Amino acid sequence: TDNPNLTASRQPDDPDAALRPKSLTEFVGQEAARDNLRVFIEAARGRGEAMDHVLFFGPPGLGKTTLAQIIARELGVGFRATSGPVIAKAGDLAALLTNLEPNDVLFIDEIHRLNPVVEEVLYPAMEDRALDIIIGEGPSARSVRIDLPPFTLVGATTRQGLLTTPLRDRFGIPVRLNFYTVEELEHVVTRGARLLDLPIDAGGAREIARRSRGTPRVAGRLMRRVRDFAHVAGNGTVTAAMADAALTRLEVDRLGLDAMDRRYLMMIAGTYKGGPVGVETLAAGLSEPRDTIEEVIEPYLIQLGLIARTARGRCLNDAGWAHLDIKPPRPATG
Ligand code: ADP
Repeated sequence: TDNPNLTASRQPDDPDAALRPKSLTEFVGQEAARDNLRVFIEAARGRGEAMDHVLFFGPPGLGKTTLAQIIARELGVGFRATSGPVIAKAGDLAALLTNLEPNDVLFIDEIHRLNPVVEEVLYPAMEDRALDIIIGEGPSARSVRIDLPPFTLVGATTRQGLLTTPLRDRFGIPVRLNFYTVEELEHVVTRGARLLDLPIDAGGAREIARRSRGTPRVAGRLMRRVRDFAHVAGNGTVTAAMADAALTRLEVDRLGLDAMDRRYLMMIAGTYKGGPVGVETLAAGLSEPRDTIEEVIEPYLIQLGLIARTARGRCLNDAGWAHLDIKPPRPATG
């Protein structure tokens, strides 16, 4: 197809593509989610029906797109991908939906960013497999109902709370994805290294895993960078010491925090004496969109216990001061 909506999302030059697991068995971690999905996939396949709509939520890079593709593959149906901001008009969505084959998976990334008019069209499509289209204008306008093939909508968003209630309620299978443990990321790294033809020992895999922010996409990125260093250093196998040297040069610290994370922490520590400080103030100070701060930077810092979100704003915890190696000006919270 030449419809840009269908091809917008993941291009073949996507560096993540090479590392994407292709089956639930290959997919590391997220055990609860995988066990549930396996049941729903088998049931739908057994009945020859479309699987119920799935909503994946969790920070970027944890495997939402990958799981959507795996669902389609294991169901043995087609996969179409687009994203919320790409679907500008109700007609774009109608074109997507009417082009689906029976039981196909339609993946909508960033589904919380759908235009409200488009979202309204999605409700009857999800619930009754029907499109209500208005034909004509003014007094002669009338609504026509078009039946759709059965399909599975897989939506992805960073936080479930970003969706409107009516949209959220139409997903039968909500699935939360969590940050990965270091052990799980070691598996991701070992598997990825094999695919990238990167010789690595257990210590090297562990070092990269520890510094990947709990996120497989970051693990993949760090692996590619470490491979460059290993290539130049020229002596083959990636060890813990080599990974450490490479990652330190890339300004990824021992907890896996990058320069942006440290700027964020330093702003709370220095400018705001440990907080509380509002997210809008931080966004302005760091010249970063509020979304990036809330969806990308903060979740991992909270997971590590370095900061806390309070009603009055963000605060640096003791662990945050300790990580920055700065003495708090007054007793810190947390
Ligand atoms: P999201 O859609 O949540 O942003 P993706 O599904 O695009 O994340 O995953 C990002 C990258 O991480 C891809 O290269 C994917 O192969 C890899 N990845 C994600 N989850 C896993 C996993 N459980 N095991 C191995 N690799 C994974």
